[in-house]
Amino acid sequence: MLLGGRWTVLDPLASIVVGAMLVKVAWDIMRPSLGELTDESLPANTEEEILSVFHSFPQISEPHNLRTRRIGSRVAIEAHIRMDGAMTLLEAHDLSSRIEKKLKERLGPQTIVTLHMEPKK
Ligand SMILES: [Zn+2]
Repeated sequence: MLLGGRWTVLDPLASIVVGAMLVKVAWDIMRPSLGELTDESLPANTEEEILSVFHSFPQISEPHNLRTRRIGSRVAIEAHIRMDGAMTLLEAHDLSSRIEKKLKERLGPQTIVTLHMEPKK
C-alpha cells in the first residue's frame, strides 16, 4: 500500500527525467546537421589554422574575407589573398596551387578551396 503510493509520486518525476534525456539525445543528434543547414563557419581554431597556412607563404599578404563552411564530410574555404601584381599568371597559378595543396594536407583531400587573388597594395 505504502510502496504503491510512493510509485505514483515517482512516476511523473521519472518521466520528466526520461523526457529530458530524450530531448538531449535528439538535440545532440540534430545539432551538427542544423549547423550545416544554416551554413555555420568552421570553429575559430580551424580558421586560425587556415590563416597560418596563408602566412606560411611569404609571397602572399593580407588574407581577408575568409569564409568557411562544412559540406557533408568536406570543408569549403573561400579567401581573398594579395600577391605581387607583376607576377605572371603562370607564377600566380603555381603559387595558388601550392597553397591549395597545403590546405588539403591539413583539412583533408576533399577540401574545396576557392582563392581570389589581388595585386598587393
Ligand atoms: Zn578582397
